[in-house]
Amino acid sequence: MEDSRFYSLPKLPYDYAALAPQISEEQLKLHHQKHHQAYVNGANAVFEKLDKARKENTDLDMKATLKELSFHIGGFKLHNLFWENLAPAGKGGGGIPKGELAKAITSEFSTYDRFKKEFTQTAAGAEGSGWAALTYCRKTHRLLIIQIEKHNVNVVPGYPIFMVLDVWEHAYYLDYKNDRAKFIEAFWNIVNWDTVAKRFDIGRK
Ligand code: MN
Repeated sequence: MEDSRFYSLPKLPYDYAALAPQISEEQLKLHHQKHHQAYVNGANAVFEKLDKARKENTDLDMKATLKELSFHIGGFKLHNLFWENLAPAGKGGGGIPKGELAKAITSEFSTYDRFKKEFTQTAAGAEGSGWAALTYCRKTHRLLIIQIEKHNVNVVPGYPIFMVLDVWEHAYYLDYKNDRAKFIEAFWNIVNWDTVAKRFDIGRK
């Protein structure tokens, strides 16, 4: 039964096999059904713990509880964004950004290639588990790349996120073993620029 006060795992906008060969069916299924699901469960378990403690009026270790909650909600939300900013290569995925987004990228990074290089280096350089993300400051009207540690560290409060790349090992290990660079290279063939552009149009206002 769906309870709107708790999270649930969203369906992917494509089949599990749709992103192959960049992401294999087995890899995507595991990532979505096991890892993403674990963050849904993790966040919900913390909410249940909070609900119970409030009902019984018992004390919780707030620091530890909220740290755990932030981690799981971060994981849940980033995966939602990730699935939506991917699409099968040649069928909505790959190519280069167009329109206002392309203009904003060129204005900030000088060229698309420079942006791609910086984003690639951000993803490659994440220590252990993390993400590369493209975000924006509404005050300065500047695009920014951020490197998120785990799921929630280094996130800038209030900045809208337009594009993310998951570089946790669980995202690529079955397909690429320890070759993260190869996975990042493959990512560019399955970026859904339409989704990123839509997020940009909404998020920059
Ligand atoms: Mn992941």
